[in-house]
Amino acid sequence: MPHSVIEPTPRSFQTGPLQTSPAQTTFDVMRLRQDFPVLAREVHGKPLIYLDNAATSQTPQQVIDVFSDYFSRYNANIHRGLHTLADEATAAFEGTRHRVKAFLNAEDARQIIFTRGTTEAINLVVHSWGRKNLAPGDEVLISMLEHHSNIVPWQLLAAEIGFTIKVIPVEANGALDMAAYRSLLSERTKLVAVNHVSNALGTINPVQEMATLAHQQGALILIDGAQAAPHQVVDVQAIDADFYAFSGHKVYGPTGVGTLYGKQALLEAMPPWQGGGEMISTVSFDAGTTFAAIPHKFEAGTPAIAEVIALGRALEWMESIGIDAIGAWEGQLLDHATQAVGQIDGLRILGTAPDKAAVLSFIVEGAHSQDIGLLIDQLGVAIRTGHHCAQPLLHHFGVDATCRASFAAYNTLEEVDRFVEALQRVIGMVR
Ligand SMILES: *Cc1c(COP(=O)(O)O)cnc(C)c1O
Repeated sequence: MPHSVIEPTPRSFQTGPLQTSPAQTTFDVMRLRQDFPVLAREVHGKPLIYLDNAATSQTPQQVIDVFSDYFSRYNANIHRGLHTLADEATAAFEGTRHRVKAFLNAEDARQIIFTRGTTEAINLVVHSWGRKNLAPGDEVLISMLEHHSNIVPWQLLAAEIGFTIKVIPVEANGALDMAAYRSLLSERTKLVAVNHVSNALGTINPVQEMATLAHQQGALILIDGAQAAPHQVVDVQAIDADFYAFSGHKVYGPTGVGTLYGKQALLEAMPPWQGGGEMISTVSFDAGTTFAAIPHKFEAGTPAIAEVIALGRALEWMESIGIDAIGAWEGQLLDHATQAVGQIDGLRILGTAPDKAAVLSFIVEGAHSQDIGLLIDQLGVAIRTGHHCAQPLLHHFGVDATCRASFAAYNTLEEVDRFVEALQRVIGMVR
């Protein structure tokens, strides 16, 4: 259902040179910061430096405005209405589906299913595809780098059905051990579940190569793109992903919404996983119930309409800046931060794979990560401390927690410098 509610805006500045010479960027970070009202606030009397973007990114005014616009002008339930408000809400909602299709380079908008987020998207695959297709003796490969969202749903289903979960190990630098991956793959492998970018270490996984290898064994690949979608152009067709998931709140959009992409034949063959309104074709006590076609078969109940529309606006915002330009800028921030914290005595960076996105995870000898997190907040700096929902990975590295600074389009090199200064002060206090 193409429509014209959400049209792309022209790019606000040239992004071409950024891809070729990231060191001499013309990236206008000061201008785009003005889109984010929260960046003007203070925390404990200090200007906020927000470096917890891997947990959730901040929201531009253009996205915030969607909510007041929606609720003050066209709040209505979608799809079944015959009135103007319902039509407008439906057009805007379905408009996001088309935008996500373009964002992921999917073949068809019907392959985009709205969920509450990455977690729910993975659960959809586990409970719909997994329950139908997995049996005792089958194997699902997941990686040591996975977020709990891509571990626990598989464990829950394995406990019920009795298939086997095998873990792809990581090398000392946090890169996946590809030789081990090749040898773990066999005809027993039914699915590989791996993140595109690790939220705990920032490692970018070679998902395209992994997909090729999985397909050679007749296995499918599910890619958790929660940390990739904010930082790089994703092309599900080039990757040859069978399933790809990401969350709205990590791409400058709202919480409560995310998407699952799936190959059309797979989605069509999968049973519904939740029943209710929206996902049926006909319901009868005598003749049973028939289901809607994709994507609606997987969207039971009234969805998060305003959030979905706002997600579309967030992707439009990213595209107006240029996704490659965002990734290149974050690469500069990461390089600068890595160099600067690398000078700090007793600080160890976890995750030094050659291919990394905007995440800097570290521990400091003689200092608890939690103390660092609490004290640095007093200086206005928001970083995350803890296990980052990746306990198996952290245990593998022999730690319970790390400090994690993660970057977004709106962070500046000056903020990185102030973060490093604050970190040095805090380490001096706790040691
Ligand atoms: C944040 C994250 C998730 C979970 O996303 P939700 O939005 O909480 O569902 C899953 N995987 C990775 C890699 C993440 O960073």
